[in-house]
Amino acid sequence: MHEYSGMAKIQFPFTLGVGSGEPYPDGVILWTRLAPEPVHPTKPGGMPNRSVSVRWEVAEDAAFRTVLQAGTATAQPDWAHSVHVRVTGLRAGTEYFYRFTAEGHTSPVGRTKTAPDPLSEQPVRIGVISCQRYEHGYFTALKHLAAERPDVILHLGDYIYEYGKPANPAPGRYIRPLESTTECKTLGAYRDRYARYKTDKDLQAAHAAAPWLTLPDDHEVKDNYAGLLPGDGSSPSAFLKRRNAAFKAYYEHLPLRVKPVGNNSQFYRWRPYGKVADLMIVDARQYRDGRDMLGPTQEQWLTSRLRSSTARWKVIAQALFFAPRKFPLEPASSDAWDGFPQSRARVLAAVPGDLVVLSGDVHNAWAAELGNGVEFVTSSVTSHPPGTDGSAMLALNPHLKFFDGRRGYLLVTASMTEFTVDYRAVPYVDRTGAPVVTAGGFRVQDNKLQRTDL
Ligand code: FE
Ligand code: CA
Repeated sequence: MHEYSGMAKIQFPFTLGVGSGEPYPDGVILWTRLAPEPVHPTKPGGMPNRSVSVRWEVAEDAAFRTVLQAGTATAQPDWAHSVHVRVTGLRAGTEYFYRFTAEGHTSPVGRTKTAPDPLSEQPVRIGVISCQRYEHGYFTALKHLAAERPDVILHLGDYIYEYGKPANPAPGRYIRPLESTTECKTLGAYRDRYARYKTDKDLQAAHAAAPWLTLPDDHEVKDNYAGLLPGDGSSPSAFLKRRNAAFKAYYEHLPLRVKPVGNNSQFYRWRPYGKVADLMIVDARQYRDGRDMLGPTQEQWLTSRLRSSTARWKVIAQALFFAPRKFPLEPASSDAWDGFPQSRARVLAAVPGDLVVLSGDVHNAWAAELGNGVEFVTSSVTSHPPGTDGSAMLALNPHLKFFDGRRGYLLVTASMTEFTVDYRAVPYVDRTGAPVVTAGGFRVQDNKLQRTDL
């Protein structure tokens, strides 16, 4: 019974589920974190302060009759007992299943899929989500997204919200209380916040259903921060420490390829899907400087990537509303691309056509035409929307073609001949069991939007 003499046996440690991400044609990252007690006042995850061996297996089938690869990883206390396994040697464009075992316990099974090889014309199905505030309701949209079994899920930011529980929550809005009444500022607080979110079964189902590509926006660190400016009067050096803690916790809870080192956490990256789509994941948050949205290094990377891309669709995946907007009453948002018009113009000038921008952040669903491409804005998974008058905005902005005020996600299908998007919506998030409906559907035709559902 006491295999490890003198050490207490660890209780079931896979309480946060499993996940995979960063699909390459020959491999993926497998993720889990050992946390027998997800939120713990002194020990992260309720784990002992020692390393633990974790065995992983990759199989052809969900029943693990044909195990193709297996190995051992070490979960270390310094990284909150998270595990990031870099699997290689897999076949391109292929579905696989994986699981972990540690201390006599076996994890749930996850499904993943590698990216197609560079010359493939295989279509790709992408789920797109953002803004999942735990307190604001149930992640039913993620349960429906899991059931769609996309090839990959793109999370465009606000995976957690750093806020503490408010003293006087708005009635009907604070559905699932948090333990903590204080804003996350320390590594321990961010870790506990991710752990609380990741106990959610619908979030676990979405991670177990497909590989993810994730990008933090502001709330993974602090509301509306910009570059090294926290916006609350604290010094840039104190804020940098906080941002590093936040990004470390982000890495510990997601299937990322690149570990943060010192002050350096790079999230912008290129993820090709054969000849069909070049996904450019763009960080419009941490390199901001004055009127510069992306920082010179990232902008140079992005514009040269766009110029040299031969893929059928050039897809920019990023957090913030990209198209220009006029508002009926208030001035244009400065925490969106409207606050950085020269940066936006330089990005648009780098691509002749077939550009698709995917974005989130605003907690409502929109679609826009950009001239040489289109933009699809996903709604929030749960986060409460602002009081936006959608029809007034559509009337004032003829290039905006669609608004929906429900929570939900996007289901994108890209092929050599078509780019289509379905806006999936759930009618409520304040209780479980919401059905999913299609709020709208579009096809991209010569850089314009065509309705497919009317
Ligand atoms: Fe948000
Ligand atoms: Ca945001």
